[in-house]
Amino acid sequence: MKSIYLDNAATSFPKPPAVAEKMVEYITHIGSNVNRGSYESAYEAEETVFETRTLLKELFNGPDEKNVIFTSGITLSLNMVLKGLLKKGDHAIVCPLPHNAVMRPLRQLEKDGVEVSMAELSDSADEGEPKEVVGSSENGVFFKPSSLEKLIRNNTKAIVMTHGSNVSGKVFPITEVGELCRKHGLFFIVDSAQTAGVCEIDMKRDHIDALCFTGHKGLMGPQGIGGFILSDPIVSEISPLISGGTGSISHLEDVPDFLPDRFEPGTPNLPGIFGLWAGLTFIKETGIAVIREKEERLARLFTSQLETVGGLKVIGHEENYPYTGVVSVVIKDHDPAEVSAKLESEYCIKTRVGLHCSPSAHKALGTYPLGTVRFSFGFFNTEEDVICAAEALKEILQD
Ligand code: PMP
Repeated sequence: MKSIYLDNAATSFPKPPAVAEKMVEYITHIGSNVNRGSYESAYEAEETVFETRTLLKELFNGPDEKNVIFTSGITLSLNMVLKGLLKKGDHAIVCPLPHNAVMRPLRQLEKDGVEVSMAELSDSADEGEPKEVVGSSENGVFFKPSSLEKLIRNNTKAIVMTHGSNVSGKVFPITEVGELCRKHGLFFIVDSAQTAGVCEIDMKRDHIDALCFTGHKGLMGPQGIGGFILSDPIVSEISPLISGGTGSISHLEDVPDFLPDRFEPGTPNLPGIFGLWAGLTFIKETGIAVIREKEERLARLFTSQLETVGGLKVIGHEENYPYTGVVSVVIKDHDPAEVSAKLESEYCIKTRVGLHCSPSAHKALGTYPLGTVRFSFGFFNTEEDVICAAEALKEILQD
């Protein structure tokens, strides 16, 4: 039986073949560190690192290559940005359906005197807004960016937003929230884990001050590489969380005050950066609109297959809203863990079950504590994969 991978929200698979090839090229033929040696292979590595910064700067319309900081992934990026920026007495507002990569650093910061407010949600749309929920007549999550305004206080420093939910796939209105941040002079921090490489993100248009990204999902790179891109005004506001050797100004023991060195101590993940280079090049050649159209089309095909099936509920998919390839499902009288296990053991379909590291998202969506079965379609899935998954679910329901 063909194995069908539908867990692209956890990590995308397969990768474009060039990703592995580029990593092998580095390990086999280059192998040198960057910013340390003055020999040819070190310059070669530095060139690809710089090109990767350029690809990221261009993809997200960031200010400059030097503002692109590499980390091991978005979890470290969010920790570095949130813990470096927010100090005792500061206030931050969190937009809907956050991941624990945002909430756990913030809960730690609360213990140090940082104040945190959660954006309000309503379970019904206002007049004129889409109301329909596929497979259900309730349980949508509606969020109006303007509702954030009443949460703003004198000490509010930042708004933190998850651009796309890793639970429901909903894409939230980044441009409107960015505009609100600009209007009120707040820093705008974005978790793009589910949308980078899939949705258009423009740091300048969307007034983003810290765009945190991970390399191994929509950017199609390997695990262990990610980063953040900073706007110029936020740079001096963030204290470096980690420090160490950078290969620059080595006569000093102070942390460099220039980018990217200020936030990039230690030897970087060079095989990871080379792989990410290939993922980003694939995205550039394919076109983000093509990727977006395909993933959303697969997700909508899946929900349309389930629409008429009683006992199945697609979570948080209101019509007319933008979505990524993520679809979460609950099945009446079935434990999601059992459904996911059956999908794997009987149909070779790989999904993810549970709370997806987002307990507050599941609370908002009414699926806490059991969670959902999450199907996440990626660029390399086919319509046939979607139909197989829908048919498998229908059969399980009849058991
Ligand atoms: N934020 C969101 C919305 C996510 O979906 C994830 C991964 N599930 C993360 C943050 C954390 O990503 P990583 O494990 O790559 O650090």
